[in-house]
Amino acid sequence: MVFTWIFLAALGAATSTRLWLSLRQIRHVRAHRGAVPGMFAGSIPLAAHQKAADYTVEKARLGIVDTLLDAAILLALTLGGALQWLSDLGQRAFAVESLWHGAALILSVLLLKGALGLPLNLYRIFVVEERFGFNRMTLGLFCVDLLKGLAVGAVLGIPLLLLILWLMQAAGPLWWLYVWAVLVAYSLFLQMIYPAVVMPLFNKFSPLTDAVLAARVEELLRRTGFRSRGLYVMDGSRRSSHGNAFFAGFGAAKRIVLFDTLVSRLQPAEVEAVLAHELGHYKLHHIVKGMALSWGFSFLLLLVLGALAAEPWFYHRLGLQTATLPMALLLFMLVMPEFTFFVQPLMSRFSRHNEYEADRYAARNADAAELVRALVKLYHDNSATLTPDPLHSAYYDSHPPAAMRIARLRTT
Ligand SMILES: [Zn+2]
Repeated sequence: MVFTWIFLAALGAATSTRLWLSLRQIRHVRAHRGAVPGMFAGSIPLAAHQKAADYTVEKARLGIVDTLLDAAILLALTLGGALQWLSDLGQRAFAVESLWHGAALILSVLLLKGALGLPLNLYRIFVVEERFGFNRMTLGLFCVDLLKGLAVGAVLGIPLLLLILWLMQAAGPLWWLYVWAVLVAYSLFLQMIYPAVVMPLFNKFSPLTDAVLAARVEELLRRTGFRSRGLYVMDGSRRSSHGNAFFAGFGAAKRIVLFDTLVSRLQPAEVEAVLAHELGHYKLHHIVKGMALSWGFSFLLLLVLGALAAEPWFYHRLGLQTATLPMALLLFMLVMPEFTFFVQPLMSRFSRHNEYEADRYAARNADAAELVRALVKLYHDNSATLTPDPLHSAYYDSHPPAAMRIARLRTT
């Protein structure tokens, strides 16, 4: 029984922490809704500040519903008996120790979770994003995206799943080590094919045509000694008016991608500064460090799974009679986030540290004042709050609060 209680305690602690942080965020943002913080007073109008506050509160409310829904689904699947029921159902078609039974079980649970999350996702895009003027997506495009996403997920995911399940059965007690090696190799493979094969299925990429901007960017790349497979503008505006810039891929396949929304809203010098920040992530090895960290983390998790999968109590205390290795993998994928949730602040801290470093890199290789101007515009356009709850921000945010980032940029 002890493990049942440990699981319930983790679920309870993680869920109540999530709810508590959301409520703090709502309260804090509301309390600061009345006035634009001093350092932004000249650049962000009160109406935009209030819109950002309302948008943030609405997103936090959605987060609360999502948290409760997730906890209910997890309980229903495990102690509620839904997983056992699905497993029994699968046994009518496949032998319980076969690869196909395991694959069918895992895929059906993933599909079920996706389907249960769908109404909230629709509400987020077509009600919340719509109301705040960010949504550019039609219901038709949403359905096409969903089907394409399922097809891509099936093509890329099902062979991997079958390989993992086969290794679990055939590779002996060290199967978890082989599975880890496969996951590492697969993540590298995905990084390589993603920009060239997967992303074009969802978006159009065209070469940057703005000659002034292109010249600035070429000069920046030359200055920083950066080689890439080209500079592209992506039609992000088909789905949303939120703007962004990013790198995709790595090694020789890396390309620089700017959202069309970013190019149309920012001045060339501001785009250059944003790009210099992104280059900073690359040059300072943040991408490689992030990958190494996630590989280390998945190594630890698989080590734990390898030990748990051999213990009958792991299945029984989570409400399962069927103790197969695929079931162990599935249970682990469902239950582990309730434990790893408490590592989140460390991950966020690592990410914010990298953001400051990339900002310093941008200040050295482009103009810090232009980056500040770009950030203010992006915060304004994306209705990102300038006054997040400090604890909520420390727990979740991958980027430091605007005020802190800008204060540091002004002193470098
Ligand atoms: Zn960054």
